[in-house]
Amino acid sequence: MKPIYLDGMTTTPVDPQVLAAMLPYFSDRPGNASNRAHAYGWEAAAAIEHARETIATAIHAHPAEIIFTSSATEADNLAIKGVAEAYYSRGRHIITVQTEHNAVLAPCRYLESLGFRVTYLGVNEKGFIDLAELEQAFTNETILVSVMAANNEIGVLQPLAEIGRRCRERGVLFHTDAAQALGKIPLDVQAMQVDLMSLTAHKLYGPKGIGALYVRRDRPRVQLAPQLHGGGQEQGWRSGTLATPLIVGFGTAVQLAQERQGSDIPHLWRLKERLWQGLAALGEIYLNGDWQQSLPNCLNVSIGGVEGNALLRSIYPHVALSTGAACSSEKPTPSHVLLALGRSPALARASLRFGLLRTTTETEVDFALQQIRHSIQELRQRR
Ligand SMILES: *Cc1c(COP(=O)(O)O)cnc(C)c1O
Repeated sequence: MKPIYLDGMTTTPVDPQVLAAMLPYFSDRPGNASNRAHAYGWEAAAAIEHARETIATAIHAHPAEIIFTSSATEADNLAIKGVAEAYYSRGRHIITVQTEHNAVLAPCRYLESLGFRVTYLGVNEKGFIDLAELEQAFTNETILVSVMAANNEIGVLQPLAEIGRRCRERGVLFHTDAAQALGKIPLDVQAMQVDLMSLTAHKLYGPKGIGALYVRRDRPRVQLAPQLHGGGQEQGWRSGTLATPLIVGFGTAVQLAQERQGSDIPHLWRLKERLWQGLAALGEIYLNGDWQQSLPNCLNVSIGGVEGNALLRSIYPHVALSTGAACSSEKPTPSHVLLALGRSPALARASLRFGLLRTTTETEVDFALQQIRHSIQELRQRR
């Protein structure tokens, strides 16, 4: 039997309705949206514009403010490097947070190598930034603040509207990586005063390989230096033939998330509560993050009295989930996010990140709990 999939923070399966919407654009509808000479091109362009409208509406933006990219990683890179290149004559200081995704941290480090200065704000024990610390970090040189909407490891939601207001007051651009937030919490670029927002389809039952960047077009009109030069698609900001099937899938996934919000979100909260109660009963279980201000589909816990690697080895055959350690090497390095919360390296390594799906059932949660309980008890007995 394959392990139960509870790794929905890493990626989600494509919803059958999303797949069905995409299929014709792989074969019967081969048009290139840039070629308006014949009906195939119009057909592709119309499908893309429909998806663009759906995505824009979901975040209270105008369709012309949505630029399709290959991923949230690309959107983050375009936002950060694109703003840095367009505004460097005004200033060379950027503010971000220690717990950001590497798609934000790595471009920031790259810009440091080019002479920019970057402030990496710390977080409190629950994962929130301190707004007073943010205010103190602004300088006359600050051109951009990048703070994620929802954390990909602990699900914590940062106070976007409060951050947006402080940026706007100072005339500093505000970028947010909303890869995990789209479809899970309300996003409103107007109310939150966001200037740039990164999105991706594959965290919300859409296909992998398609993302978008929202770029505000007035008050203020954001300038961006393109990072991909070529045919001038997407208003010259992102060249390359548009991926019609993936974009159609992205739009359908967003549409579906909106339609299902009323049932999906309470369902996920119920499962998360059940999972937490079951885990907490084992004792020495620590919640990483915050319960209230967090994603309904994410639960991250550290487990006392067990060794991280041994725990995973015993769980992986039964339950597919993620851990607070990068397992790319022999000796796993503990997550930078959990360390930023103040967790010890041992507790950071002995952590489990659950990503619940809209299709996850109570039976699956109970089965996962049973396996995890068994593993923990066995490992603790060997102490
Ligand atoms: C998944 C994720 C990304 C990367 O998205 P891709 O589309 O896979 O490049 C960036 N930021 C956050 C917060 C994510 O969760």
